[in-house]
Amino acid sequence: MTSTNLDRREGAAPPSGRDILLLAQIVDLIRTGVANTRPDLEQATSLGRTVVNERLREGMDLGILEEGGTAQAERGRPSRTVRFRAEAGLILSAGFADNALHAALSDLDGTALARSVADADVLDGPDVVLPVVQREFQALLKRAGRGRPVWGVALGLPGPVDFASGRMVAPPIMHGWDGYDVRGWFRNRYEAPVWVDNDDNLRAFGEWAIDQPDDVRDLLYVEIGEGIGSGFVTDGRLHRGDTGAAGDIGHFRVTDDPTAVCRCGRIGCLAAVASGWGLSRILTRAAERGESAMLAELLATEGRIAGHELAKAIAASEPVTMAAVRRAARLTGLTVAGLVNFANPGTLVLGGSALRGTDVFFDTFKAAVLEQTIELAARRLVIRPSTADFEIATLGGALLVARRLLHPQSLQLWLGAGTPIGSAVRIQELV
Ligand SMILES: [Zn+2]
Repeated sequence: MTSTNLDRREGAAPPSGRDILLLAQIVDLIRTGVANTRPDLEQATSLGRTVVNERLREGMDLGILEEGGTAQAERGRPSRTVRFRAEAGLILSAGFADNALHAALSDLDGTALARSVADADVLDGPDVVLPVVQREFQALLKRAGRGRPVWGVALGLPGPVDFASGRMVAPPIMHGWDGYDVRGWFRNRYEAPVWVDNDDNLRAFGEWAIDQPDDVRDLLYVEIGEGIGSGFVTDGRLHRGDTGAAGDIGHFRVTDDPTAVCRCGRIGCLAAVASGWGLSRILTRAAERGESAMLAELLATEGRIAGHELAKAIAASEPVTMAAVRRAARLTGLTVAGLVNFANPGTLVLGGSALRGTDVFFDTFKAAVLEQTIELAARRLVIRPSTADFEIATLGGALLVARRLLHPQSLQLWLGAGTPIGSAVRIQELV
């Protein structure tokens, strides 16, 4: 410390490793709202006034911190606050839902500055879809970036993702994505760290983060979209498992019905009977067999029975559709009850496009979960629909990037330079 202080007084040396460590600690305290005045920072860190002031000066020189207003300190006279400059860098995040790409440009605290939605089908493969993501990112930066630097990128993909490498591993129907270097693709366009994750993980993290601070208990998110998936946040962290496959619940076997053929090639998967794709297949077959006049007419006029047509049939309480939706919701609920008994989350969130325009799925799902959940696991369990809908994956992505960039371990890598650009690879490698 002594030599460091001498160096600083002489005015030439950059912050030492230990200075950066302390600055990272101070930035974390300020950013999380634990302490934001000099007296409170001195108390929280057990550092002297001179050292705290020197580190704050460095943080301000680096553009990470700035003086704020005046606040009453915990002890003593009112003090000036110091604030974290969430506007110092930008985060780009994107995810897919319902044949659309949802993208957002956010501050370092996850606040969205601009959002966009564009037609894109992830099944078209990375060579078609990633340029669409890039086009949307560029449009968002032009609209709201004000020339500020991109400090991190997140992309959610609907399938198994090896989080460490940012590559998908054997996604059942996403041709071209298996092993594709998505991170490398973005790294050639941005110098910032890039994270690729399963989109249900991002949704789970987003839902967890928007809950009230006193309700940030473990959260299980279940997505009923084109496919079925889940994400689990425990102790404030996403549970990815050993290889990143955790949460892929769409292929639980729930029936021996030989006609329930899943897109993965197996028989009887939950996704085959309860996903948007599965329901579409079941109702199309019913229409072709003449089991429902309304479904037959929808198929004839629209050429398919998917999201929009499904919503129409539900709105009309068409009996074949209602029976299929109730069965889908019940099988999903019974499956998820097993997960609730195993993991004992405090909050269970149901989201996804298959639910839009109807309470039937959610109500049936909730009843089935409670029917099969043991009393202790159900005691404080909150079951709710998703609150942020399509925006939740981009919010979760932005928050994931923010957390990874601003984690004290990560700050130590880049704070000295004042920007994570240039340290991208080392930041990505942190677990
Ligand atoms: Zn399957």
